[in-house]
Amino acid sequence: MNILFLGAPGCGKGTQSKIIIKKFGIPQISTGDLLREEIKSGSSLGEELQQIMSSGKFVSDELVLSLVSKKIEQDECKKGFILDGYPRNLTQAKNLDSLFKNKNIKLEYVFLIDVPFDVLIERCTGRLLCTTCDYIGNMDKGDRVGDKCEDGILYQREDDKTETVKNRLNVYQEQTAPIIDYYDKKSILHKMIGGNDPKALSNKIIKILEH
Ligand code: AMP
Repeated sequence: MNILFLGAPGCGKGTQSKIIIKKFGIPQISTGDLLREEIKSGSSLGEELQQIMSSGKFVSDELVLSLVSKKIEQDECKKGFILDGYPRNLTQAKNLDSLFKNKNIKLEYVFLIDVPFDVLIERCTGRLLCTTCDYIGNMDKGDRVGDKCEDGILYQREDDKTETVKNRLNVYQEQTAPIIDYYDKKSILHKMIGGNDPKALSNKIIKILEH
């Protein structure tokens, strides 16, 4: 089962991926997470990435392709995987097609999670993550930077600051939105309305996957 989650920053791709991972036991390939790992490693590439990502711009198509291609080779991906945050423009979508063709892999489901931009700005700028676990909090829910989670503490992603979020949404509109049509033409696109009830949305997604 090979799945792609598509949608603007903060639409809930990561949350939905995590629910589907638990349900179907397939791994998530998040280019954002892979890039953040590189930054954490303190490498010189990581330093370069930090600068690009904190401005809300995209890193190079070649770099993300090589990250995804390496990850797909791993045994844990043999039964399927969830792509989260890749592809993000038409070149990447075409690169992914070629990669899959070479490896004889088929992309079966593309879920677009649609959420209005004003809601996304609020969600992203209030979003807080834990330094250790998967918890995704929000200042709306009373979470604050520095609060204790189970083992870690809550922090705000550098690129969740207001100006960067607005940039990321512009970049999404210009570069990522065109690939919606690309997948629609392949008849594998499912348009979902995202809201404040992740469980209701995941139930709908699971129904489609189990059909
Ligand atoms: P995300 O965690 O998916 O919101 O990604 C965070 C940042 O990582 C993005 O704003 C980009 O700077 C970079 N990034 C993640 N995925 C890609 C991609 N497929 N292509 C280019 N840049 C990416």
